[in-house]
Amino acid sequence: MVAMTHPVEARVDLQAISDNIALLKERAGGTAVMGMVKAEGYGHGLVQAGRAALAGGATWLGVAKLAEALELRAAGIPVEVPVLVGLTTPGEPYDQAIAAGVDLTAGSVGMIEEIAAAALTAGRAGRVHLKADTGMSRGGAGPSDWPAVVDAALAAQAAGWLEVVGLSSHFALADEPGHPSIQRQLAVFREAVELAEKAGVRPEVRHLSNSAAILTLPEARYDLVRPGIAMYGLTPVPRLGTFGLRPAMTLTARLALTKRVPEGSGVSYGHAYTTSSVTTLALVPAGYADGIPRNGSNLLEVFVAGRRRRIAGRVCMDQFVIDVADDQVEAGDEVILFGPGDHGEPTAQEWADALGTISYEIVTRIGSRVPRSYEWYEGAGNAE
Ligand SMILES: *Cc1c(COP(=O)(O)O)cnc(C)c1O
Repeated sequence: MVAMTHPVEARVDLQAISDNIALLKERAGGTAVMGMVKAEGYGHGLVQAGRAALAGGATWLGVAKLAEALELRAAGIPVEVPVLVGLTTPGEPYDQAIAAGVDLTAGSVGMIEEIAAAALTAGRAGRVHLKADTGMSRGGAGPSDWPAVVDAALAAQAAGWLEVVGLSSHFALADEPGHPSIQRQLAVFREAVELAEKAGVRPEVRHLSNSAAILTLPEARYDLVRPGIAMYGLTPVPRLGTFGLRPAMTLTARLALTKRVPEGSGVSYGHAYTTSSVTTLALVPAGYADGIPRNGSNLLEVFVAGRRRRIAGRVCMDQFVIDVADDQVEAGDEVILFGPGDHGEPTAQEWADALGTISYEIVTRIGSRVPRSYEWYEGAGNAE
């Protein structure tokens, strides 16, 4: 067992991230890969996950927000590695993004104009990916706005203010293979690409595949694929299994306290759990402020002393209790909350299933108060 100094710790296996990327690249037939590291690398660490992805063969990194892209550049991810911001909002410092060599997504004429204006300030052309809304009705330009977006981008490109690097879109239901919306979205994307290319756009990359599409929809690869959840080793389509991916995050804690209590002891707020016999209670120093879902009260399992135990009573802000019966456990002993399942601990997918949510939310919500430790792969710092 690794010596732990923190009461709660998320151990991140960077080798697993790197291996998952290599597996996905192979499954995508060698198509270029953009490792999606938004939201602190789905809770695994923005920069560390990014470096592990590059080590595994990704050549692009993707984030949601501009600040995340700037953080990657500030941490030393070189401009040779394109970093794409997927979600842009008027009024952000696009001149800084352009100066840092960050690619921007535009799905409206207004955003193209704003990026062009920022390029004037930055003194160089902005790199832009035009995003088509092919049926998700979230970001991007729908078919009626697309021609105007393409024209505006071409005009700004002709003026030297931007370079149209990519054409992109996003699936709403790639995690339901065979759903009719998938082929509909693909057809709309094909048309959007054709229209843009006929108008004179020469994109370096056309891209729309998330993890689920990479693993189930070869015809959607185009020039670049964008895995997120799968690079962290969690399946994008739970009913199709794990696809050989390895979960990268193990959430652990050390017991703060153990004690014997009588039968009939009410446990934690609301006494939502009552002991049914004389028993040992153990206090786990992780709560909803650390990202443990409060809905997991009396529901989620953790792994301690060689077996699974259910959370006893309510999850509090900083802690929760488990009833370990007569097991020999002591303060300081390790509890695994979730992990790859190697020892018998639950996976993030199991927690998600129990809570009626998706594994994405389980790992991403592990809070900033939880220190991350990076295992086995010290070389990731040199990856380029
Ligand atoms: C988050 C995101 C992805 C990755 O999605 P996964 O389902 O985690 O693979 C891909 N593309 C865009 C635009 C995203 O925002």
